[in-house]
Amino acid sequence: MPNRNACLVVNAGSSSLKFSVFQGAGKADLEAVITGQISGIGTEPLFEAKDAARRPLAKENLARTGHGERAAMLGFLLNWIAARLDGAKLVAAGHRVVHGGTLFAAPVALTPAVLTELEALVPLAPLHQPHNLAAIRALAEAYPELPQVACFDTAFHQTQPWQAQTFAIPRELTAEGVRRYGFHGLSYEYIARRLPEIEPALHDARVVVCHLGNGSSLCAMRAGRSQDTSMGFTALDGVPMGTRPGVLDPGVLIYLMREKGYGADELEKLLYHKSGLLGVSGLSNDMRALLDSDDPRAAEAVELFCHGVAKQAAALAASMGGLDALVFTAGIGEHSAPVRARVAEKLAWLGVALDAAANRAKATRVSAAGSRIPVFVIPTDEERMIASHTLDLLSKTSRIAPDIVRAA
Ligand code: AMP
Repeated sequence: MPNRNACLVVNAGSSSLKFSVFQGAGKADLEAVITGQISGIGTEPLFEAKDAARRPLAKENLARTGHGERAAMLGFLLNWIAARLDGAKLVAAGHRVVHGGTLFAAPVALTPAVLTELEALVPLAPLHQPHNLAAIRALAEAYPELPQVACFDTAFHQTQPWQAQTFAIPRELTAEGVRRYGFHGLSYEYIARRLPEIEPALHDARVVVCHLGNGSSLCAMRAGRSQDTSMGFTALDGVPMGTRPGVLDPGVLIYLMREKGYGADELEKLLYHKSGLLGVSGLSNDMRALLDSDDPRAAEAVELFCHGVAKQAAALAASMGGLDALVFTAGIGEHSAPVRARVAEKLAWLGVALDAAANRAKATRVSAAGSRIPVFVIPTDEERMIASHTLDLLSKTSRIAPDIVRAA
């Protein structure tokens, strides 16, 4: 496909690097031509890729390189992609970056100064931000001329009123940045764009979006802008998740520290890796496995999850002074009819009623004809959002990523 631009989208985690390649003449006709990941970075790196129709393109174990492994993996990836671009030109890379702090309310072209600002936010997201930034540096090292753009999980929530962003703690701490930021912003932004395309009458509606995946949160949005969300200072707050507890009385932490000698590292492990669906079921963090299990602990974990989601949805409706529509998205939200049914049941008093057949069939609109609140299932697409932002920014700026390596 000659004369077409390609954009690499990177979502770098602690041991994996998910990627997509989008092609298109403009953001309206972007197509994900390749998606894939390198998993097991630091242990047994495995490269997998699929084409636009999700057919396997590659699956291969990569040699470990020790120091600089991430850079080596990115170098491999870009060479592999370059050989498959079919005449298209790789014009930029867009990264998912978890934290943009209060400074970045929109995607930003990466420069040395921006990287320094993002580095300063590492303490706010120590488990994610360093990996996001490492991928940016590694890519800059391998391809110094490739413009790079950072798209933030926090940015979408910058439109919230102050009472949604503020903890009731002394002002000095708030001023230091101890406040609610919210996450999954790229997913919510995508849904905010999609919903009025599906139902134009909802363009200025009050909507609660339930992003239910391994990490889960909910967002209250009005006219496509974030008003409130269930996650706060970190991605721990809100509803129970795969391995995170969601809302937890902070007194529990004081108890664990004082009575059981927990330190910060142990608390981190407990809250990020051992709680949530896994902690309650003692079996799995995977909703599918729990729904398939006969173990009563699995049923309790699912019930606790649905209880948390319904409670947050109602709280967010209150935060907006009402509710006009409900949306389910992400792994569980898109694929789990029993979870949607249970959450809807718990929100019946708000006027939510599902059409059982439509819900089972994963229709776009799953509410019953008489439901006061229309309910939608909309597959999210954070990668498309990143590609769209990246190409948008690129079209506005001639050269956006000078000297990243030299500054690193
Ligand atoms: P995500 O983080 O968005 O990829 O979502 C991952 C979660 O979605 C895991 O808990 C999966 O078990 C869940 N999931 C994916 N497919 C299904 C399904 N068909 N039924 C129930 N849960 C699913």
